[in-house]
Parts: sequence; C-alpha cells; structure tokens
Amino acid sequence: MAQAEGGPAVVTPAAGPGGPYKVVVIGTGFSGLGMAIGLKKAGVHDFVILEKADEVGGTWRENTYPGCACDIMSLLYSYSFEPKTDWSRMFPEQHELLAYIKDVVDKYELAQHIRFNAEVTATEYDDATDTWQVTVNGGETVRGRALVAGMGPLHRPSIPDLPGIASFEGTAFHSAEWDHSYDLEGKRVTVIGTGASAIQFVPRIAAKVRHLTVFQRTPPWILPKPDRRVTGVERALFRRFPLVQRGYRNGIYLMQESFVLGFKNPRLLKAASSLARGHLARQVPDRSLRRKLTPDYTMGCKRTLVSSDYYPALTRPNVELTTEGIAEVRPRSIVTRDGREHEVDAIVFGTGFHVTDAFDGARIVGRNGLKIQDAWRDGVEAHLGVAVKGFPNLFLLLGPNSGLGHNSMIFIIEAQVRYVLQCLAMLDGAGGTAISVKPSAQDRFNRWVRRRSEGAVWVAGGCDSWYLDRDGVNRAAWPASTLAFWLRTRRLDPGDFHIERRDESAAASLSAR
Ligand code: NAP
Repeated sequence: MAQAEGGPAVVTPAAGPGGPYKVVVIGTGFSGLGMAIGLKKAGVHDFVILEKADEVGGTWRENTYPGCACDIMSLLYSYSFEPKTDWSRMFPEQHELLAYIKDVVDKYELAQHIRFNAEVTATEYDDATDTWQVTVNGGETVRGRALVAGMGPLHRPSIPDLPGIASFEGTAFHSAEWDHSYDLEGKRVTVIGTGASAIQFVPRIAAKVRHLTVFQRTPPWILPKPDRRVTGVERALFRRFPLVQRGYRNGIYLMQESFVLGFKNPRLLKAASSLARGHLARQVPDRSLRRKLTPDYTMGCKRTLVSSDYYPALTRPNVELTTEGIAEVRPRSIVTRDGREHEVDAIVFGTGFHVTDAFDGARIVGRNGLKIQDAWRDGVEAHLGVAVKGFPNLFLLLGPNSGLGHNSMIFIIEAQVRYVLQCLAMLDGAGGTAISVKPSAQDRFNRWVRRRSEGAVWVAGGCDSWYLDRDGVNRAAWPASTLAFWLRTRRLDPGDFHIERRDESAAASLSAR
C-alpha cells in the first residue's frame, strides 16, 4: 500500500477499472494513440488510455483557433502505416486532422480502451510491487506495470504575467483555449505573440475586428505556404496506386529533412533566407513595417513558419503591428513602454506553451521517492527522449530533446513507440518486473546531445526560443537528422537498460492478467 502525498490511501484492487494493467497510457493524441496501436499490433491488449477530455485528439482537439492547421503537409503528417488518400488540402486543417484521428480510433477499435474525463493528477512508482500508481482526477488510483506518457510537449499554455492583467475587464484567452462564445466582430482586439499559432489566426480575425493590435517581440522567419487543394486526379491516383502517395510522402519528407543541414551550417539556409526576405518584400510594400518584420537572427533559430496570408493581414488599415513592450494592462486598455494607451476589448494570447518547465508542478515520483523535479534539478533530460533514470517502467513520448522544428513529429512518435515496445519485450523476455535505463546510458546520450547542440542554430543563432531552458541549454530539440533518430531507436541496445525482478508474487499477479 502506498500513500499519495496529501491524497487518499491507495488500495490495490483485484481487478476492474483501477487495474492493474500491463500498460497505462496517458493521452489520446498522436502519441498515446500511436502507442495503443503499437501495443495492439504487438498482441498486448491489457492497457488503458487515460484522457482528461471527453474526446480524443490531443493538440488537434485542444487547438480550435480560427485558421488552425498543420504547417507540415498532410501527405506526411499522418501515421506511416495509415495513409489517408483523400486529404482535401496540401496542408491539413485542424478539423480534418481531428477527423483522421477519430477514423484511426475506430479502425483500430481503440475506444474500448479509453477512459474519458480521466485527468492524471499524480503518478507514483510503488517499489514494493514495481507498478505505477496513477491518480486520476485527484482521487481514484489506476495501476499499471508500465506507464507511457503521451501528453505532448505543447499542452500547458503559457500566459505572461503582465503588470495589471488582473484588473483587465475585457475578455482574455489563450490561443489553445479559444473562447468561441465571444464574438470578435467589431471589437478592438489585441494579439500578443507572433509565433506559429498567431500567424495562423491573425489573418482569420483581421477582417472581422474593428481594430487589431499585434504585439510582436521577435519577428519570425516566414516562408511562403504552398497550400492548395489536392486535386481529384491526385486523390484517384493515391487510391489506386499507393506507391504514388508513398512517392509524394517521401518527397515531402526529404524536402523537410533538407533543413537539417542548416542546423550546424546556417549558411546552407541562405537560399531559404533569401526566399523568406523576398516573400516579405513582395507582400509588405511599406518600408517601416517591413523593417519591423525583418528578423535579425539566423533562420532556424526559432521554428521557421510558413504563411502566405499573415503579412497581407498586417497591411490592412485596421491592423497595427507594434514592437513596443507592454508596460501595463489597465481595465480597458494596454499601455506600451512609449506611454501610448491602446483601447482594447479583448486580448488573445498567442504566447505559446510551457515546454522545458512543463513538469515543474507535476507530481511524478519514481523509485525510492525520487521526484521528477529533483531528478531534473540540473535540467530536463531523458534517454532518447523516452526513458529517465530513477523512473523504472516509465516511458515518455516526445520527451526532452526529441522535438523537431523541421519535420513531422509523427516520425519521431513512431520511432519512440517501437523503442518502448522493445523495452517492454525485453522486460517480458527476461521475466522481470522493472526495466530502467542505466544512468551511464542516459548520461552518455545527453553528453552527445550537448556536444551536437554546441554551435547549432538554436543556441548560436541569436534568438531565444522554447527549445532552450532558462540557462540557454537546448532541452527540447533533437539535434540531428530524423534518420539518425530512427537509427538510434531501431534496435534497443540491451546494455543501456537493466532489468529487475523484485517481487515474484507481484509479477505473477500482473502476468496472470
Ligand atoms: P510560440 O511559437 O512559442 O510563440 C509564442 C509567441 O509569443 C512568440 O512570438 C513570443 O515572442 C511571444 N511571447 C511569449 N511571451 C511573451 C511575452 N511575455 N510578451 C510578448 N510576447 C511574448 O507559440 P505558438 O505560436 O503557440 O507555437 C508553439 C509551437 O506549437 C510551435 O513552435 C509549433 O511547434 C507548434 N505549433 C505548430 C503548428 C503547426 O502548424 N504544426 C501550429 C501552431 C503551433 P518571442 O519570439 O520573442 O519569444
């Protein structure tokens, strides 16, 4: 019996919704569902997926802001084993991605494994039984031999604590929590932030609102977006000749992957930088606006964005781009550092997410009471973004240093799912109850990450980004090609892990399920 801090006593149930399951998966985005499919394909059916919401979809359920779409092309942004032949556009919109995810859930009969409205509020490793005790909604406990965290790296909205924000009497919301009940029509609206989300919704709301003030801190690099409808002929070809679709997919993958060459050699991105500058010059005739929008750091330092309608939206007469910092928020206005007061009815925060500090408030307790915050006192790190020393049987998907700025995250998810399945197979094969990454393996991997990140564009490109922690260390981005990630995760090196056989009776009760 274990005691969650400040929570109720955990009673080991004989069976039922509390487990114990072989695997507990958190989240129903591409990561959690990918894991579930992998488990089923491997013949593992004894798993539950805990989902905080009442619907599947992860980031594509949460983000419903106007214009929400993926900036990776649809033919690449899908599971490799589940191609969709009838994408309507080259760049998929949120609703189409959500529909794709729901189709996958149906096809792989995953609904029966999902518990909706089950928010994980704490997780604690029970050393006596080598199981994870997962607290749901602050009360009930679900137990699992292994725990796979598929919450995604971008799920905790970051809202700056602006001076006076509490006094604001208008409406304010974050892009990932869009308030669709609030009609922006005819309102004076302020957007704070000019990242991947803002550049998608600014063009959609600009024509509606009376006045739009966009607060920019750092101008993003923006390439033209070659979006268009997928033609009927293409769709028919994809349906009849899967190899044609595979060819498109591989071509897009290689094009995206070519950006990796610029990580260490930004000069190689000269052509892309020129393309972006030309795009800006063509779309923004006004010199002073263009100057504000011209990045002064190396392309690739932050995520490079794609849009063909953001710059034109900023040239509208009812839209103003300001680069002045915010001094104060008042009940009905925002005052900038130059002393100007901007009347405002609504503030939309396009200010991104907590990434390197996403786990600061999380209660994740590993072996011998080790808290994740203590394990990560010197910075978040894992082995291949998946395994963390001191946390047996815990697997992260898209964990530290497995993020990409240049290619499809689904590629990484699939590689990590295969890796986790190999860990579980190794555990089963050895008849053990716990599998842990060896500290030496994790340390070696992270020394390599640090070496690879030295001089790379995220740290040397002259900008700040969510890839970096407070000390400027790259904690989020994978510092090499996706091919390198695939090669490193394709075959588990058994020497990187150790297996324990703690409590034979606990193991027996679990394997009997
Ligand atoms: P983001 O890229 O992190 O952008 C946040 C923006 O808010 C930046 O312009 C940032 O300025 C600004 N900001 C943050 N705090 C601020 C403050 N206190 N005062 C003024 N400005 C502030 O966030 P996001 O646009 O939500 O995108 C996050 C990530 O989600 C992306 O990088 C991407 O990986 C993913 N995403 C992907 C897609 C897609 O199509 N695949 C679409 C949307 C989002 P600074 O640049 O100066 O920090």
